[in-house]
Amino acid sequence: MSKAVLITGASSGIGEATARRLAGDGHRVMLGARRTDRLERLVRDIGELGGTAAFRRLDVTDAADVRAFVAAARAEFGRVDVLVNNAGVMPLSPLAALRTDEWDRMIDVNVRGVLHGLAAALPVMREQGSGHIVTIASVGAHEVSPTAAVYCATKFAVRAISEGLRQESDGTLRVSVVSPGVTESELAESIGDPEARRAMQAYRSVALPASAIADAVAYAVSQPPEVDVNEVVVRPAASAQ
Ligand code: NDP
Repeated sequence: MSKAVLITGASSGIGEATARRLAGDGHRVMLGARRTDRLERLVRDIGELGGTAAFRRLDVTDAADVRAFVAAARAEFGRVDVLVNNAGVMPLSPLAALRTDEWDRMIDVNVRGVLHGLAAALPVMREQGSGHIVTIASVGAHEVSPTAAVYCATKFAVRAISEGLRQESDGTLRVSVVSPGVTESELAESIGDPEARRAMQAYRSVALPASAIADAVAYAVSQPPEVDVNEVVVRPAASAQ
């Protein structure tokens, strides 16, 4: 069945790969991010391949903007079947570096952004009597490492929020958390701290293609309504972390 799927952070990396994969599977995708030139190109690519896609500029830190994104998807496709909370940032640094603006940004995008998505999508899904929230967490939602304390805290948080949502669900809402290990994307480009940047270069020498994470999302989305895939962790086979 073709679903209406909303993807935040669809302008690069995992979000873009997920858009391509789900559109290829016949779903209609609404793409959000701040870089609209990228989204425009992606919508065109998907259309040329016979898929259905639309986009809207989206800043997930702005609750009203997220509500407008969900409303735009509903206007375009008539429904909101799946929300993929993918937008995220990862400016790593040791706590002692006190890069407090970056801590705030990670909390605003990675946690508040997900909450804004839930607040906007849940009323629509409740009204429809069905829905699916997929959140891209991280292996950092399962373990902490140096320079990643705040990033991991945001990912622990969204995993906790998702688990709470699952427990409160009345059976009409499905809740999935997909936790990638190191994956090719633009994520590490936001690291300003020199020590964290050096450590990340070595860590990222083995990375999954973003399509591997898109495949995991597609697996969760494609299950029959009574099957709720709650947690998927996907790491490179050659990576210990
Ligand atoms: P990218 O940097 O390639 O993609 C991040 C996406 O988030 C971009 O599309 C960016 O779009 C978007 N984004 C950032 N800030 C905002 C905002 N305020 N509002 C809307 N969109 C925003 O990295 P990934 O593809 O790797 O990241 C996707 C998710 O995967 C993140 O949640 C990340 O934490 C998670 N993850 C990634 C791993 C990896 O190794 N790559 C490992 C574990 C988890 P734009 O700038 O255009 O707004």
